[in-house]
Amino acid sequence: MENPNTTSALYVVATPIGNLGDITLRALETLRAADLIACEDTRHARRLLDHHGIRAATLALHEHNEAAATGKLIDALRAGRRVALISDAGTPGIADPGARASAAVRAAGFAVVPLPGANAAAAALSAAGLPDARFLFVGFLPAKPTARRQELEALKAVPAALVFYEAPHRIEATVADLAALLAPGRTLVIAREMTKLFEQIAVMPLDEGPAWLAADDHRRRGEFVVIVSAPPPREGLNAEAERVLAALLAELPVKQAAKLAATVTGAAKNDLYRRALELKGG
Ligand code: SAM
Repeated sequence: MENPNTTSALYVVATPIGNLGDITLRALETLRAADLIACEDTRHARRLLDHHGIRAATLALHEHNEAAATGKLIDALRAGRRVALISDAGTPGIADPGARASAAVRAAGFAVVPLPGANAAAAALSAAGLPDARFLFVGFLPAKPTARRQELEALKAVPAALVFYEAPHRIEATVADLAALLAPGRTLVIAREMTKLFEQIAVMPLDEGPAWLAADDHRRRGEFVVIVSAPPPREGLNAEAERVLAALLAELPVKQAAKLAATVTGAAKNDLYRRALELKGG
């Protein structure tokens, strides 16, 4: 196992999100050389490890025992054992346990070495074809409708594509809320069962999402990444409104200048007010 700087390290290893072939050569080398592999569900991990003939001992590390299991990882590192961490699928620490273990291992003086690989959000973004340069990974939204809607209200104006994870029993409710609260003018990507037999990546206007899901039972099955493109840019003021606003701002406070400019030019007062604040550097 490569270990350039330290005597012992925790190797955080990405595993497939469906297709067992999606594992890197370095991940296999590292898991083969490990003495102990911490994993979310030991039986689930055994299927992957057996598939690749990896016999290392496993240790359950999941959201309910992360603190206690991390103590065991640190003991193993102190004993000079080679330790790796995987999750049920994809990259540990991303909508999965691993963050607390990485922090505690580092605090105990050991290096934490990432082995990058499969990640559902990155896979969906890579094939989505959206023009947005920025994205915000949200992961799972709250299960309760009120909390979910509150979070969406807070995300509505973020100038980036939004990336969500969702389970089949909540996909309809979530897409309904996305359409109700974030449309219009945005694109929806539903990436389902990626790298698996029934992989499907559908791209549509956001407000068509609920009808698309309702049209076929199969479309609501499996694992989902849902992406909503960034909000459309606000339309700027026309040249006359800009000129009048700038002239009035030289003489008047922001609010009065915006109000008067709206009367003179017919442009929306809110747009003028926002622009006036920008021009004043506030
Ligand atoms: N750590 C993982 C990663 O790196 O993507 C994510 C784990 S999270 C507990 C599981 C969620 O990821 C699923 O509910 C689904 O939203 C998404 N996901 C995982 N595999 C997927 C796949 N093959 N296709 C679509 N979404 C997937």
